[in-house]
Amino acid sequence: MKALLVRLGLAALARPLLGGLGAVLVFHRLGPRDPGLFFEANQRNIIPAALFEQLLDTLAADGVAVVSLDEALDRLAQPRPGRFCCLTFDDGYRDNHDILLPILQARRVPATIYVAPGLVDGTAPLWWYALDQAIAREPVLRLPLPQETDLPAGDAPAKARAFATAAGVMLGAPPAVRAGMMTALAGRYGADPAALAARHMMDWAMVRRLADCPFVEIGAHTLSHPPLATLDEAAAAAEMAGSRERLEHETGRAVRHLAFPYGVPGTTGEREWRLADTLGFRTAVTTAPGNLFARHAGQRHAWPRHGVAPFDSPAALRLKLAGVSNPLRAARADR
Ligand SMILES: [Zn+2]
Repeated sequence: MKALLVRLGLAALARPLLGGLGAVLVFHRLGPRDPGLFFEANQRNIIPAALFEQLLDTLAADGVAVVSLDEALDRLAQPRPGRFCCLTFDDGYRDNHDILLPILQARRVPATIYVAPGLVDGTAPLWWYALDQAIAREPVLRLPLPQETDLPAGDAPAKARAFATAAGVMLGAPPAVRAGMMTALAGRYGADPAALAARHMMDWAMVRRLADCPFVEIGAHTLSHPPLATLDEAAAAAEMAGSRERLEHETGRAVRHLAFPYGVPGTTGEREWRLADTLGFRTAVTTAPGNLFARHAGQRHAWPRHGVAPFDSPAALRLKLAGVSNPLRAARADR
């Protein structure tokens, strides 16, 4: 308790300096833990709806306005914009329609949902779930990394190592190697991309219902959710522009904002930020944690975002917005 008070005191002291003007939060799914997922890394992207609502209450109690990305951009240019925060959801999971939409409507707060059309269609792999499913079940996985490699997965630590190795390949390898991995996961281990999409992702009717809600903006998230830095420039640009084109066609609404898949260094960098600018996106977001400062009006194609985990409390959110989340994050990692 004392440690928490010290941290909160630290937050109050640090906020004027490190808190910036506002922040963008990144979520994926809302709901209970998914019993079909083995790995904690995948469970961590699912936030209980009650916690999400508690965090919205916290923002309201602290006088932090929940605003759209356009309003955030406007506020960065104002001398005294008032504290603000944007809500964003990545990928296009079903619960964004089933659970998030009613919350946004009831509370009249805006959110941006970045949708990758290939994930909705089931043509792009939800590889993080395909791997989860296969490694949870199999004692050994044979995958082309690109050489055929046997990954031991006999117990939990071995499964964790196998997941980390395979995920590293999916994030850093050239497109052909990733395609080979998915073919192997589907062919040998039954991880059918279309079946995974049907279970986890929205269909287009759901995306359209979200797009029709006045509190929701649909943003682009590339076509097939690749680590863009592994593509040549023309292919990276086609993924970004193609996503916008398809979403505009499906929803009948302008798509003006972009989130880079994964959003971490190695998957996204200067080239992608420049492309997002050239292609005319108003903002583009990464997953580098951090707050928004006046300088982000000029650097609007590499906005940072704070992730939110199921174990985050209102106090943890306050620390993130104060710019001092790292000590807490480090303490969590020690466990
Ligand atoms: Zn994503």
